[in-house]
Parts: sequence; structure tokens; C-alpha cells
Amino acid sequence: MQAAILAVGSELLGTERLDTNSLRLTAVLERHGVELRRKMVVGDSEAEIAAALGEALARVDLVLITGGLGPTADDVTREAVAAALGLPIVIDPEVLAGIERRFQKLGWKMPEVNRKQAAVVGGSQVLANSRGSAPGMRLDISAAGRPAPATLFLFPGVPSELTGMIVEYLEPWLAERSGGISRETAVLKIAGLPESLVEERITPAYGEFGRESITILAKPGDVLLVASAVGDAGQRRERLRAMTERLAGLVGDAVYAYSEEQTLESVVGDLLRGAAATLTVAESCTGGLLAERLTRVAGSSDYFLGGVVTYSNRLKTSLVRVPEALLAEHGAVSEAVARAMAEGVRAALGSDYGAAITGIAGPGGGSEEKPVGTVHLALAGPPVAPAAPGLAAPPVSSVPQIPPIPPTVEHRLLRLPGDRERIRWQSTQILLDMLRRRLLAAGTVAPA
Ligand code: AMP
Ligand code: MG
Repeated sequence: MQAAILAVGSELLGTERLDTNSLRLTAVLERHGVELRRKMVVGDSEAEIAAALGEALARVDLVLITGGLGPTADDVTREAVAAALGLPIVIDPEVLAGIERRFQKLGWKMPEVNRKQAAVVGGSQVLANSRGSAPGMRLDISAAGRPAPATLFLFPGVPSELTGMIVEYLEPWLAERSGGISRETAVLKIAGLPESLVEERITPAYGEFGRESITILAKPGDVLLVASAVGDAGQRRERLRAMTERLAGLVGDAVYAYSEEQTLESVVGDLLRGAAATLTVAESCTGGLLAERLTRVAGSSDYFLGGVVTYSNRLKTSLVRVPEALLAEHGAVSEAVARAMAEGVRAALGSDYGAAITGIAGPGGGSEEKPVGTVHLALAGPPVAPAAPGLAAPPVSSVPQIPPIPPTVEHRLLRLPGDRERIRWQSTQILLDMLRRRLLAAGTVAPA
């Protein structure tokens, strides 16, 4: 089976909105072994929709359209499809009653424009939409010169409604025809290595498993490997296991996750939670981006206490206790200051780990000695020296009064390429990876 996707919406032609619905649809097609032949985006125009539909129907067996089923005047997908196929538009009484009930429940009278959402293409199978008011539709289209009818699905554009409809209607329909899922994928997420280096490392796997079964997707400091396998469920599982194991072996400890949902910040969060450790951050050039990323993870309050944006020298001194002399001697973007910020935030805010970033994100402010992209990262935390495993802690009263062990502070100097946004992102990415590695190392030496 071959398919085409048509995303409808004038906003998708502008710079503000990206067509993400087609990605969801593509994932489902891939799982069912349907070959996607083309993807199109058109505005809310009857002529454009009709032209794109005509082209698609001439080439593929399955056409998936999203968008343009709303109540407003600019939504014209159903009219365009009806006109293109020479079919009437009819009001579906059941759908209309459903929409009226929804408004009644809210204590409102249904606005006349919403009547349009009960309009369907005559002869279509109406697909009820439990998450919104516009139903979807399915049409089987026979045409001269076609060996078998083509199928057309119309889905709403609202992503959450589309997702529901995929599960309720598209997947079962595909499963019936494709004999179930025929392709599955496994992912590996990699931090801190450039795409080219990952590519070089995994080259042997291309030879062993076939180049087409491994896809590499990269953004700065974050590489995603997608391994895919076909065949029956048992074969797929075995092949994905073998591929994952091999790829992980080739890439090494830069692999931080094996599922799409996990992010570097969520992985770090899980490690902190597992270690019952807390974290605070002091940020200069990243202006809070690190804290923002950490708090994207639901439940991060378990381990992330908070942080400070110490952009000026004065706040570096007053909030995280960076000695003025250090700033005067080395400058704010320096190893000494990064280290002092990490130790300072850890002590001032009272956490197990303290992380700090100070650098020059550009485009101005660089010098020969400290060019744009110079970033110092520091991480202060419990000493990494292993505690002797298996030794019971002595009773508190007999512990000699020794001075507290100073934290171990790690430092990294980065020379990052790219623009301001990329430098800031990469700084947080590499710092999170430092923290991940530190926590993993701490985990392996901690007493059981
Ligand atoms: P519509 O069904 O065309 O009225 O779309 C409703 C909402 O869904 C709008 O806010 C759109 O921006 C969004 N939307 C429509 N099509 C897509 C798409 N292909 N990808 C992501 N969002 C979309
Ligand atoms: Mg629209």
C-alpha cells in the first residue's frame, strides 16, 4: 500500500506553525509497513486542496488529510473534497444532535456556525470525534483506470483530536489490511558527541544490519539513532535487541537513553532521585536555561531546589559568594569563577550538587583570549572518592571531629561553534551530561 498525506491550513504555510500532524501520521504508516510517497501542505483554499487531492489520488491507494474541518469560514476541506469528487455535502443528523448536546451541557445555545461541523461529504463513513465537534470521514473512491478503490481519510487538524482519531479509526483500519504491525523501531539517544563522530563509530553496524535500517538524526549536542526492523513480532524483537546492543557497544557511554520520551534532563533527574541527592544551579550566560530544562521534567522538585541567574559580577559576589578578587584577577568568564560559582551556589543554597555556567554567548563580547563560544562549566558535589563498601558506619558519638570534606569540583572549558542560541543550548547540554556521568560514577562506587 502506498500513501500520501495532505496537511491543510494557511497557517502552516507561514512561519509560525509547523505541520506536525503529518509526522504522527507517518509514524503510524511506518509501523504498518505503508510506503509514504508524498507529503503536501496547502492553505485553506478549495482549488489548492482539490488539486493536491487529484494528484494524490492518481498515484497512491491511501490519502490522509488533516485540517480545515473547523466551523469558521476559512475551513473549506469538506467542500473542496466534495467538489473534487462530485459528491454532495449533507448535514448528518446524528452529528448535529451531538454538537447541540455539547453546547447544551455548557448551558449555551449552539452558534449557527457550528452547524457546519455537522456537514459531511455525502457517501462517506462518518468518524465520530470524541474530543471535539468536527467528525472525521472515510471515503472509498473508485475511479476509472484504478484497479481498486482508493481510500481517503479526513481528520481534524487539532493535534489532540487527530491523535484520538488515529487510535480509534486509522490504526484498526490499517491493521486489518496490513496484517498487523510489520515494522518497529528502537532508539538510542546520545549526548555530547557530534553527528559525524557517532556516524564513524557506528559504521560497522551499517555493514552488519543494512544501512537502511539505521537512521541518524542530530541536533547540536544530541544525536538520535533509530534502528528499525521488519518481520514477525519475534524476529523484530530479536533484531532490535541485537541492533541496540551492537550500537550501544559501538557508541559507548555517551548513550544516555533508550526511549524517545526520555530527555537528558529527565535522565539526570532520575539519577539524582535515585541517589537521593539535590541540585542547585548558578547561571550566567545561559540566563536560566539550565533551570528551565531541569524543571521541564514533572516531579523535578524531588531533587532540584532552584537556582540563581548571576549575570552581573555584583550578583556573582553577593548571591553565590564569588570573591571579588577572583573576578578582578581572572574575569567573570574563567575557570576560577566557574568553580567558585558552583561551590558557592551549593553552599549558599544548600544542595548536594552545585552546577555553574559562565561564558561568552556572543555575538559581541569576545576577545582573542576568550573568543565567542568560550564557556566554563563547573560541577561541585560530594567527593568522588569511594566509600569503603560493606563497612558499617561507626556510632555517631565516636566519630572524631574532622573538618567537613570539601566538595570535589570538576571543570570543563568549552569552545563552542555557532550562534548565541546554539552556544547557550550546548552549554546546558554538556553540563547536564557532566552531571549524568558524575552521578553514574558516584552510583557505581556507593556502598550497597
Ligand atoms: P483546523 O482543524 O484546520 O481548524 O486546525 C485547528 C488547529 O490545529 C489550528 O490551531 C492549527 O494550527 C492546528 N493544526 C492544523 N493542522 C495542523 C498540522 N498539520 N500540524 C500541526 N497543527 C495543526
Ligand atoms: Mg485550519
